[in-house]
Amino acid sequence: MQVLFAKRCLLCGGASDSELCSPCHASLPHLPSRHCVVCALPLTTADVCGACLAHPPAFDRSIAAASYAFPIDALLRSLKYQANLALAPVLADLLSARIGAAELPDFILPMPLHPSKLRERGFNQASEIARRVSKKAGVALLPLACRRIKDAPSQTGLPWKEREKNIRDAFACEADLTGRRIAVLDDVMTTGATMNELAKILRKCGASRVSAWVVARTFPDRPQAHF
Ligand SMILES: [Zn+2]
Ligand SMILES: [Zn+2]
Repeated sequence: MQVLFAKRCLLCGGASDSELCSPCHASLPHLPSRHCVVCALPLTTADVCGACLAHPPAFDRSIAAASYAFPIDALLRSLKYQANLALAPVLADLLSARIGAAELPDFILPMPLHPSKLRERGFNQASEIARRVSKKAGVALLPLACRRIKDAPSQTGLPWKEREKNIRDAFACEADLTGRRIAVLDDVMTTGATMNELAKILRKCGASRVSAWVVARTFPDRPQAHF
């Protein structure tokens, strides 16, 4: 008997009852089951890595749907550079699946994009993903609380240590976030330098807790130069 599926898998094109068929879903680059709760890098022992213990970042914890590897990297690039907006809800659902009800914040803040980049791209990929995550979790979006005021050159290709300098003073935030728990949502977290910089500002505005919610986390080849 032939089963008719309404959809085709985005990755393999096979018939599927959702955007990703079960074999493709199972083959996604999942995070190692043991990882640092603060920065999401792989770990063998303990819950917090040595680097986060020694120099805690301004965010309290990270949740990542996957590691930045094939095919997640390809999906994210297609969303961002080919404006394949249909991928946003698919990626959002992978992230939503990792977010437990116990850690729900008061607001979700999509990582702000500099206005010139927003004009060039026409959309903020973080906002596209955040809209769906917000709806699913029943947590309000805080889209206008902070602005990116420095259009830093792309972080891509910069040495890890340079990224931190590159991003300094990149954000401005005037909102009163006293006692609020904020989850910053971004598509990719690489060194965490951008996330850390925004988290610092949110803390200055009174946020009591800042979480990083990202679709993909990049794992460095070498131990990371830290926050
Ligand atoms: Zn498939
Ligand atoms: Zn860590």
